[in-house]
Amino acid sequence: MTTVILQDIRAARERIANKIERTATVLSPSLSERLDVPVHLKLEHRQTTGSFKLRGASNAIASLSAAEKARGVVAASTGNHGRALAHAAKLEGMRAVICMSRLVPKNKLDEIRRLGAEIRIVGNSQDDAQQEVERLVAQEGLVMLPPFDHPAIIAGQGTLGLEMIEQVPDAALVLVQLSGGGLASGVAAAVKGVSPGTKVIGVSMARGAAMKASLDAGRPVLVEELPTLADSLGGGIGLDNRLTFSMCRDLLDDVILLTEDEIAAGIRHAYAQEREVVEGAGAVCIAALIAGKVKANGPMVVLLSGRNIDMNAHRKIICTDASSLTEHAA
Ligand SMILES: *Cc1c(COP(=O)(O)O)cnc(C)c1O
Repeated sequence: MTTVILQDIRAARERIANKIERTATVLSPSLSERLDVPVHLKLEHRQTTGSFKLRGASNAIASLSAAEKARGVVAASTGNHGRALAHAAKLEGMRAVICMSRLVPKNKLDEIRRLGAEIRIVGNSQDDAQQEVERLVAQEGLVMLPPFDHPAIIAGQGTLGLEMIEQVPDAALVLVQLSGGGLASGVAAAVKGVSPGTKVIGVSMARGAAMKASLDAGRPVLVEELPTLADSLGGGIGLDNRLTFSMCRDLLDDVILLTEDEIAAGIRHAYAQEREVVEGAGAVCIAALIAGKVKANGPMVVLLSGRNIDMNAHRKIICTDASSLTEHAA
């Protein structure tokens, strides 16, 4: 069976070294105090294009043959993968077509258009968008680069895990966002490849957690896609999932699910305490700590995976925080 291993991730790192930022990892005084262990934040929301997705997209594009590059690439995306792919394709002077559902926020769509990619909006779910991708592959010969279930994408996301374990070699636990599982698979393969004793836990929103439902069922299952603050975590894992289901099953130590209120509290904490603007998906690992859903038994690395949130939506979330009034008074 195919899987992605440490060696693939190290090769990906060489391939994309001059195309991505090596993002910083900083200690969070407030979370360290709250959990009573050192809590380190991996500031990947500061990556070029605003999310870690540039790692996988850059590695996948760099791995194409000259003939494939000439044909162009196509993908379905809730936003950040599309944006990363558009950026990476533009650097190579390649054609990129991005297919997405109507649930995608306008700010993400505008950004992809600005990067020069062609956009197709179809249906109400990632699965509808995926059908359009398959049509373009069949009829126009474009190369499909899916957002998570692809070895070069997983290896690219895994480079984040290499950086985490180098920046915090004594990490007992790594918290990572979980949707389709490209990120969690790559990070877990890297972290456990270097440091087998380190635990890796995935964090999702409770509304439409497809990987969690699939892991519980023992096989990929369909879950209805619902609007959530963590919009970048929306979408299924694919009933024909090839890599990320088995990698998450074999490598993740646990999965944590969060309510919408808990995710909002994570966004507020990131802003008020850490002075960071993160999107809903980007805040879920912090949110899991704030919600008291993680048991601490050593140094932790907590991923901030993206910052591509509509700033009006962000402002509303910050301003509806009733408890901040009492915090200010105190
Ligand atoms: C895509 C994405 C995730 C989830 O990654 P998967 O590989 O689909 O699990 C998490 N956070 C952000 C900001 C994303 O864009």
